[in-house]
Amino acid sequence: MKQLSEKIAAVAPSATLAISDKAKKMQREGIDIISLSIGEPDFDTPRHIKDACIDALNRGETHYAASNGIPELISAISEKIIKENHFSCHPEHVIVTCGAKDAIYDAMEAVLNPGEETILLTPAWVSYEPCVQIAGGKIVTHAVNPGTFQIDDSLLERVNRKTKMIVVNSPSNPSGAVFDKSSMQLVADLCEDHDIYAMSDEIYEKLVYGRDHISLASIGDMVHRTITINGFSKSYAMTGWRLGYAVAPIPVIRQMSKVQQHSVSQAATFGMWGAVAALKGEQDCVEDMRAEFDRRRKYIISELNRMGFTTAPAEGAFYAFVNVSGDDMEIANRWLEQGHVATMPGSAFYAPGWIRLSYATSMEKLMEAMDRIRNLGEY
Ligand code: PMP
Repeated sequence: MKQLSEKIAAVAPSATLAISDKAKKMQREGIDIISLSIGEPDFDTPRHIKDACIDALNRGETHYAASNGIPELISAISEKIIKENHFSCHPEHVIVTCGAKDAIYDAMEAVLNPGEETILLTPAWVSYEPCVQIAGGKIVTHAVNPGTFQIDDSLLERVNRKTKMIVVNSPSNPSGAVFDKSSMQLVADLCEDHDIYAMSDEIYEKLVYGRDHISLASIGDMVHRTITINGFSKSYAMTGWRLGYAVAPIPVIRQMSKVQQHSVSQAATFGMWGAVAALKGEQDCVEDMRAEFDRRRKYIISELNRMGFTTAPAEGAFYAFVNVSGDDMEIANRWLEQGHVATMPGSAFYAPGWIRLSYATSMEKLMEAMDRIRNLGEY
């Protein structure tokens, strides 16, 4: 048989797979595993959003729609961007995609040529690099300050004539850090001085605690070179709906549109009606979920600190990022095998020596998980 695609063969399988497979196997064997490895809200999608989708199905919204998204959703997104994210946005700047992940993939394909470099600020989420690789590009990593989790001008050292894009993710998965104005300004200056595109993944924007979320595109002229990624998974507990969007300059949207038209066509029509209700409806549900995450965040961070762990500034998303000062794979394995608590080793996120704990699970389970880790004694 002929060899399969070298490009895909070169994409590394997820480093987290080994440990999550092991956790699943232990669960199947009847062991009571507490999973703090999940990246999705434990809440159900709010009722009014589900109802809007059911109404759409009953009305017969079961056919193909415009590839970039139904006009009602596109205009709801434009209005939201102008009002909440403070940058200009017309309907032609928006594309609705099958999850934020799909928007990221489409954008990489739309922007990168083979061999062009993308700077990835680390620690970073797992899917940016494979998307860059599949598009033929190359990742250049740059670690944020390990104490503040902010950026300084050492970032400039990563720029060369092949640099095409930088990926910014604030609030961050996995660290929970939120970039401040000066970090964002640094990225903006870098992009403008060196003619670089920015991808700003703002999917956790609603989950910030005592901090303001800043959209990169709202700084200076960044709206002309930023692809803002967002979606409904985290803010509205809609992970299974597979709905996301990108806001970008028109030439980028046109390119992304072609990728979408010839691959998935569009996001599911009736689901988009649910998203309209999410954006246009009461936002109390978002605040209720945020407040509950905040309560759990305060608890888990103070427990981890009491055990002697240093944690990253937990200012956003729903992750505690813990410095375990040792082999994170080995420690995560021990927590799983002996404590029956599943977590994500930082190595998967370019951050060896750290472990990510998701607090998107009930307070009772979090308390039990903290007891189990504490009872393991030596950390
Ligand atoms: N960006 C980040 C930083 C994420 O953590 C995730 C989900 N884990 C995504 C994008 C993808 O979200 P979606 O479900 O909308 O594809």
